Amino acid sequence: MIEDKNPQRTSLSQLGEFKLIEHLTQNLEINQPSTLKGIGDDAAILDFKDKKAVVSTDLLIEGVHFDLAYVPLKHLGYKAVVVNVSDICAMNAKPTQITVSIAVSNRFPLEALEELYAGIALAAQQYKVDVIGGDTTSSQKGLIISITAIGEADSEEIAYRNGAKGNDLLVVTGDLGAAYMGLQVLEREKQVFQVNPNNQPDLDNYTYLIERQLKPEARTDVRTLLHALEIKPTSMIDISDGLSSEIIHLCKQSGVGCNLYEEKLPIDPQLINTCEEFNIDSTTVVINGGEDYELLFTISMEDFDKIKGNPNFTIIGHMTQESEGIHLVTRANTKIPLRARGWDSLSETES
Ligand code: ADP
Ligand code: MG
Repeated sequence: MIEDKNPQRTSLSQLGEFKLIEHLTQNLEINQPSTLKGIGDDAAILDFKDKKAVVSTDLLIEGVHFDLAYVPLKHLGYKAVVVNVSDICAMNAKPTQITVSIAVSNRFPLEALEELYAGIALAAQQYKVDVIGGDTTSSQKGLIISITAIGEADSEEIAYRNGAKGNDLLVVTGDLGAAYMGLQVLEREKQVFQVNPNNQPDLDNYTYLIERQLKPEARTDVRTLLHALEIKPTSMIDISDGLSSEIIHLCKQSGVGCNLYEEKLPIDPQLINTCEEFNIDSTTVVINGGEDYELLFTISMEDFDKIKGNPNFTIIGHMTQESEGIHLVTRANTKIPLRARGWDSLSETES
């Protein structure tokens, strides 16, 4: 589906490493007051004054985490930043800087890296994070991207995975499952394309799902929203692998159980229609599909009035004593033990 619209191909060896780094990073701006020194020296210098520094890193490998057959490089760059920024948000912290390290094979021309960096720069601008450094090297095969995100927070506001209590409410932002179904649609179109390259895909009915897969957003707004409501989450995690697996993380680390209610799950109508078309159960997708990058958190029961009816948040369950276990309560009011079937195991059961 991705045709070569840009016939110009400048070999990376024409530039050399230093010119390449300079070329890719020349338009990046520094905006955070905590960035004392960004790109250009042996190391960056940051100053968080009385705040705590929050650091998270991710590694993305071509063929394992992304497929360039249907992910445009600009989207890949954007998403690589988003997934890291999301990890900072999941600590209830504010993202401030990133570093970007790439390894590329000689199959990639300069123009491809320009696309990748256009996405990185766009995300950096969108989320107001400074790109303060990185590393650039060659790989034998394929593209590897590693991003480290840095953020700041007051120590009292940081939300860990292990703070949930027995009667806390379980809350999620946005809706779930769309990114997973977006990937199913893209994979189907890739197969159609391989059989008949002249077949132009009609993706109008799937725009939301595909956008959620190719251009997810990190919920940097949630920290501000919760602050305004005077709610401090007792525990928090972002949904990268799937709701069930993240719930289990919170429960295991906090030493609590959970009842998750099927009827409360936030689902977009496009997801329901597409699940019907693909003959997949939408609850399964919502619970096990990954990569939505919404935030999942627990709050004290006393905060119920502050959050109820708020369109940004859905209360999907409540924590219990550990001995009660971790369950999905279905619409038919039966209790099913929740299992951690992440992204990969779900795709296996579908094939
Ligand atoms: P070193 O030899 O110390 O590793 P480099 O020549 O690799 O230094 O990098 C020079 C500067 O450019 C450093 O500030 C480094 O952080 C930055 N840099 C290198 N590669 C990238 C990249 N892909 N994206 C952003 N900054 C980079
Ligand atoms: Mg280097």
